[in-house]
Amino acid sequence: MAKTKPGKKDLDSYSIKGTNKIVRPGDCVLMRPADTDKPPYVARVEKIEADHRNNVKVRVRWYYRPEESVGGRRQFHGAKELFLSDHYDMQSAHTIEGKCIVHSFKNYTKLENVGQEDYFSRFEYKAATGAFTPDRVAVYCKCEMPYNPDDLMVQCEACKDWFHPSCMGMSIDETKKLEHFLCSDCSANDEAKRPLNSFHVRPTAESKVSVTSFYLVIICSGSAIVYGLTLND
Ligand SMILES: [Zn+2]
Ligand SMILES: [Zn+2]
Repeated sequence: MAKTKPGKKDLDSYSIKGTNKIVRPGDCVLMRPADTDKPPYVARVEKIEADHRNNVKVRVRWYYRPEESVGGRRQFHGAKELFLSDHYDMQSAHTIEGKCIVHSFKNYTKLENVGQEDYFSRFEYKAATGAFTPDRVAVYCKCEMPYNPDDLMVQCEACKDWFHPSCMGMSIDETKKLEHFLCSDCSANDEAKRPLNSFHVRPTAESKVSVTSFYLVIICSGSAIVYGLTLND
């Protein structure tokens, strides 16, 4: 038997009180905050143990919300973005109120519908120093921001960079009605010639700057088509 400390024993699973949901090590959970006005904490369960009186405790690794990080929420942070921290705790299993899924950034951008339980994480976060890993990500648009999966972006047919409508002086509605798009630099350079072919809305990017290929999802009359794409970044 795997005994960690005298009188304690490891458990394979825990049933969330009042539900039929089973939590196992490796699962992500929502935990009730002391201040009930706040959103639930999100954590990954590393270990589940019971003491000699059958009180169940979980060792958790916390996910931080952008608001809880030293730098705060930035414009490129998605609504469902979390940072996997190096901050661990022991918590009573009673504070677990539900399960959730923390996707990789790539998988999150491929979801057809984002449910309440879906989150994503593209950075690890050191709670003591406020440092992120990776510390560099690919940036897009004139504003040179990392991709926020909640924001619509449009691809320039010439330079293939992605742009925020607002940074190009367009509304989202105007952008959706466009049949072709050239960014301001490319439309100044290139007025005619080339036949314009495909038109893409919304990038799906891998977060690391060193990654040279990623997938692009194009929403086409309700169905998603996935294309391979290479970036020379
Ligand atoms: Zn921009
Ligand atoms: Zn361009």
